[in-house]
Amino acid sequence: MTALDLLDLDPSLTEEERQIRDVVRRLVDDRVRPYVADWYEEGRVPARELAREFGKLGLLGMHLDGYGCAGASAVAYGLACQELEAADSGVRSLVSVQGSLAMYAIWRYGSEEQKRRWLPSMATGESIGCFGLTEPDHGSDPASMATRARRDGDDWVLTGGKMWITNAPIADVAVIWARTDDGVRGFAVPMDTPGVTAREIRRKMSLRASLTGEIVLDDVRLPADAQLPEAIGLKAPLSCLTEARHGIVWGAVGAARDCLETTLAYATTRTQFGRPLAGFQLTQAKLADMAVELVKAQLLALHLGRLADAGRLRPDQVSVGKLNNVREALAIARQCRTILGANGVSGEYPVLRHANNLESVLTYEGTSEIHQLIVGQRLTGLSAFA
Ligand SMILES: Cc1cc2nc3c(=O)[nH]c(=O)nc-3n(C[C@H](O)[C@H](O)[C@H](O)COP(=O)(O)OP(=O)(O)OC[C@H]3O[C@@H](n4cnc5c(N)ncnc54)[C@H](O)[C@@H]3O)c2cc1C
Repeated sequence: MTALDLLDLDPSLTEEERQIRDVVRRLVDDRVRPYVADWYEEGRVPARELAREFGKLGLLGMHLDGYGCAGASAVAYGLACQELEAADSGVRSLVSVQGSLAMYAIWRYGSEEQKRRWLPSMATGESIGCFGLTEPDHGSDPASMATRARRDGDDWVLTGGKMWITNAPIADVAVIWARTDDGVRGFAVPMDTPGVTAREIRRKMSLRASLTGEIVLDDVRLPADAQLPEAIGLKAPLSCLTEARHGIVWGAVGAARDCLETTLAYATTRTQFGRPLAGFQLTQAKLADMAVELVKAQLLALHLGRLADAGRLRPDQVSVGKLNNVREALAIARQCRTILGANGVSGEYPVLRHANNLESVLTYEGTSEIHQLIVGQRLTGLSAFA
């Protein structure tokens, strides 16, 4: 860790931020690292148990105020995401989806009653939330979503389906986005409502320590108060994505750091041709380039976090961070794998697991291409995609 802090960034964090980071790191070292390779291999994760552990530490909805949430800063939340993803992107996804997507949607757009009903138990991890925006036929273009909500008397009736929904197989509540006669609206849908089914998506080759599901909504009747009253139009779910993307900017740094730490340790102890791998110039060139990219990604995350805490972070700036940090983290993970040789493909080392996970991170919360288009729009004033 210290060798990788090429620019002495550590002192740029406050004492409290460093403490939060270290507490999360210890929890992850204790409760996640020893087991995560097996979870990944077996394609399962004790998500409820982990959620309760994370809840005890205040990591769920950590950057939100009130209703049992910790009210931490954006930087502190980012550091928590960094430490979680240093263990596994799937475990960080559990926390991101719970806090930044499901809880944030209810916290920002819900009624007082909805907040009281859901947020305290979600903050402790007793209730699990998910966020249903993507559909089988509508991913990057959620404006064309097919899921419908129609009025029937005072009730709402939802019909449609959501795909690739993190936490769905175990969720107690889903925030579902649906088209109404007045545009897109959000609904807090208890998963035990008649007509709701969730099926786990199996055979993922990425994020295997994370539960992903398909949600089918078959004439799901909901009372009027299931609608999130303040969520008007597509900008509501997009604002939730901005929250979650900020966590990813930091999380990707954690995955990349773990790859590089693993690889540095490996390259200094493994010898070929009578000297450590780290002693070869070609290896040092790789290590140097990766360490430079890592520290640039850390600086970017910290800068965006400070902007968020000052209330000045724009969505297109988050796109800069997500685009760069995930792309570079993936490049680092792949390059680290080459230095580990055959061991690079083994689950005994975390490197290929991180690389495989980062393939999902590159795609979800807006693909790299969508973030390029958002940055392109900022630069040119022209939207190439909407
Ligand atoms: C493990 C995992 C977990 C997920 N969790 C959630 C979740 O909890 N909730 C949720 O709602 N969704 C979730 N998703 C879905 C994710 O957000 C979508 O996969 C993502 O938005 C991309 O949509 P798509 O897969 O339909 O790809 P598509 O939109 O079909 O895109 C396919 C390719 O075409 C490119 N493309 C599309 N449009 C354009 C364009 N205009 N210009 C240039 N290129 C374009 C894309 O960049 C991509 O490379 C998850 C996905 C994964 C893999």
